[in-house]
Amino acid sequence: MAGKKHTFLERVANLETSREADPPFDRMVKRSAISADPGLYPRLFDALVGHLLVWYGLPASKSAAQWEWAPLYRLEREIDPHYFVQRQISDRLAECPPLDPERSKAISGILAAYFRWRRQGLRTTGPEPLVSLEDCENWCAIFPSSMAWQALDVLRAVGLYPLGSAAAYRAHRRFSDGAFTPDYSPSTLRQWQAECVALSEITGLEAHRYDFMAAAFAEEFHPLGLEGTCGEIPRCDVCLLRRHCAWAASEHHSDAGPLELLAQVRRGGLQDLPTGALLRVFLEPLDGAQGIEQFLESGSLRRLADRTLAELEELVGREGGRPERLKVLFEICRRFNEDRIVAGDTIRGAADVFAHFRIRMRDIKQEQFFLIMLDAKRRLLGEVTVSQGTLDHTPVHPRDVYAPAIRERASSVLIVHNHPTGDPTPSKDDINVTKRLADAGAVIGIPLLDHVIIGEERYFSLSENGLMNF
Ligand code: SF4
Repeated sequence: MAGKKHTFLERVANLETSREADPPFDRMVKRSAISADPGLYPRLFDALVGHLLVWYGLPASKSAAQWEWAPLYRLEREIDPHYFVQRQISDRLAECPPLDPERSKAISGILAAYFRWRRQGLRTTGPEPLVSLEDCENWCAIFPSSMAWQALDVLRAVGLYPLGSAAAYRAHRRFSDGAFTPDYSPSTLRQWQAECVALSEITGLEAHRYDFMAAAFAEEFHPLGLEGTCGEIPRCDVCLLRRHCAWAASEHHSDAGPLELLAQVRRGGLQDLPTGALLRVFLEPLDGAQGIEQFLESGSLRRLADRTLAELEELVGREGGRPERLKVLFEICRRFNEDRIVAGDTIRGAADVFAHFRIRMRDIKQEQFFLIMLDAKRRLLGEVTVSQGTLDHTPVHPRDVYAPAIRERASSVLIVHNHPTGDPTPSKDDINVTKRLADAGAVIGIPLLDHVIIGEERYFSLSENGLMNF
């Protein structure tokens, strides 16, 4: 892997942003001599206990360190690593808040391993706080193997730089073999370290520096002002390595997690993903999305959008407002397709009216009756919902139509209603209502220009069909 031409690390090292990482590396990593730092071990132990509390889901605040977990923090000052016995750790743990046996055993095991490690300690004696490979390995061996990468965070927390940034390794795996979120294990840690060391032996540049440059590329050092592109959600759209990157060239995975789906937004090609996969982004955590994806295997997105909140709840559960989020999403989608006329726009005919109402009316299950008011230049003044129900049972009274029109000083009006059956052909009642309203308009001096009936993807204009010549 390391001997290949143009490895991930070589390409990263040639980036302009990596050259910019040089001064921060020198500042951060070479700023002090650890061998002369008498406070190193107490700080390291504090960081270790703090991390352990977090990793095992226990409170790790400053006050927790000073109060309930203080007996544990005191151990570093109390124990002589050459003479310690496990009992000292269990006694102190017993003074802390009660722990279940599993966590208690895991934490005391790690601390015991730490004190054994302390007999030898860090063997780095140079003027730089770079942790040697051997020291890295010894340090990681204190922890259960599943924590090998996490263990390095403790060293970083006290200003030591171990070889093995997890983010750098993640970027490497994305680039080299398309693994978006790789597994972190002791063997992958060793592989990554070997990669850095092998390249450094060829170029003479420190292995740590390669690790640092790749970590910066993986957006680890944003707080230091270093630009990177391959962070948690990679910005492939602006990445200079994109042309050679395995993940960027890989197929879209419909079973990807939300982060990878978000990353695919930056990579492009979302149109290839099934709708269920796209909806998963809105439904974190993941398990809520399965019901939706099953539904979409046989049902359409439209049918899903028609579902009531209670029905959506059955599909995705209630947590995190998932049914409500879906409704909001569907509403946004619906509005996006609308071609609404806004106040001041000219209405040129029934086709404009249809475009204005088409999407809105499409999913309405009952008849709705609207009034559209125009000024002298046929520009929209406003619209009003006049009635809801069926025309048979909710007759439209001329007063309901013309009162708002008079108030708005409209010069003319249009009326619009929908046929939920989808067929816009006017009924006898539709024609009668139109005549009544047209007569009233003629008396008042606000002519009724048209009655547009909206059906499924088509409309019927009484004016265009010569049915307004009363
Ligand atoms: S193209 Fe995307 S995934 Fe690949 S290295 Fe660049 S940022 Fe990372």
